[in-house]
Amino acid sequence: MDKNVGIYIHIPFCVSKCAYCNFYSLAGAEKLMPEFHTAILKHIEEYSPQLDGYLIDTVYFGGGTPSYYGAGRLISIFNALKKHGHVLLDAEVTAEINPGSITKEELLKLRRAGFNRLSIGVQSSDDKTLKSLGRTHTFADAEESVKNARQAGFENISIDIIFGLPSQDKDSWAETVAKAAALKAEHISCYGLKIEEGTQLYVFKDSPFLPDDDTQADMYLYAIEMLARFGYKQYEISNFARRGFESKHNMKYWLGEDYIGFGPGAHSYIDRCRYSFIEDIEKYIERLSLGQALVEYSEEMSDFENAGEYLMLRLRTVNGISEEEYYGIYRLKMDYIIELLKKYEENGWAINKDGRWRFTPKGFMLSNTLIGELLEAQTRQRTLISKPWQTDSEDEDNQLTLFDKRPLSAEVFSGNRTERISGTTFGK
Ligand code: SF4
Repeated sequence: MDKNVGIYIHIPFCVSKCAYCNFYSLAGAEKLMPEFHTAILKHIEEYSPQLDGYLIDTVYFGGGTPSYYGAGRLISIFNALKKHGHVLLDAEVTAEINPGSITKEELLKLRRAGFNRLSIGVQSSDDKTLKSLGRTHTFADAEESVKNARQAGFENISIDIIFGLPSQDKDSWAETVAKAAALKAEHISCYGLKIEEGTQLYVFKDSPFLPDDDTQADMYLYAIEMLARFGYKQYEISNFARRGFESKHNMKYWLGEDYIGFGPGAHSYIDRCRYSFIEDIEKYIERLSLGQALVEYSEEMSDFENAGEYLMLRLRTVNGISEEEYYGIYRLKMDYIIELLKKYEENGWAINKDGRWRFTPKGFMLSNTLIGELLEAQTRQRTLISKPWQTDSEDEDNQLTLFDKRPLSAEVFSGNRTERISGTTFGK
């Protein structure tokens, strides 16, 4: 056992469907909760042999609305992970909650069971906007949730807010940012609204009620500046945290580290293989009960695809990319990519500091386009090299092992006890 892994649990139940929501989540499906619960516990148990090789250092309950599913069921899933996997005692354990969908008593139960981080969907400080989005809470409910969470002992709270909403102007966004900061969470995720096909908001796609591109850009830059003043450091395109409170789980996605998902539609990335489970709760339940395959999509990532992901994901973070690191991992040169990054630097979209390239806030706003160009440059570079994927053993020995964390020993949950494990040979 020499690798860490993050676990994602997808809980697809919601009170109602929000107008902008493109996640796999179901409103009015409560009657499926007991069957779903049996199924996901079985899923985790069946995965026990695969989990055996890993130390679980993050667990994230997302959705959907995990808080609507109930603290008791969330704890029972967490206990299954502790039973069938090696969950580190200091693992970051997050549950997404919506204001008004969980009581103080339930928060206390979660905290006592080992949950130590909450992600609260606040979205806006304006109650009319919340209502128009189909949210079932007010901003006062969000304030109450943060207060209850603190009283329950949560010292690591994240909140989500959204800009670019219909009828939202710069003043109302400024008010949301200020009121969000006043909640004194440790972490703030600040997302730009994306209108996706299939959502209720799609009819507004080209509507004048939506802030135009320039206004949205101003809103984003305003948030970066104001959140910095409130002590939140941007560490990813949409994420801001007080020092030391960056999301360990989400960092795994951006650093290309291993994670395993459970639940309908959940994605996994493990040993350079990407796969996802069927995005249909009824089929998920049925197939688990019949012992049938759940994987809907899987892909073995080539070295070249992984190198593309390195560019795509790490440029989302303020840590960015480096020539040395890229060559160390993939044995590829970055000449064409650097050429392009220098042009971006001239335009104020990228900077190079201490050998690392990263996007500026203006670059983050254009990141989809810029990353697309960088990937094209990567492909052109590849065709120039006669031996792009050198894999002789000497080179492999010299490669950086960014994805391989090898703790010498660690304390893990073991049934109702805890135990210290070390080296590479211990089992459950
Ligand atoms: S609560 Fe979250 S997951 Fe549920 S419908 Fe709203 S946005 Fe989607």
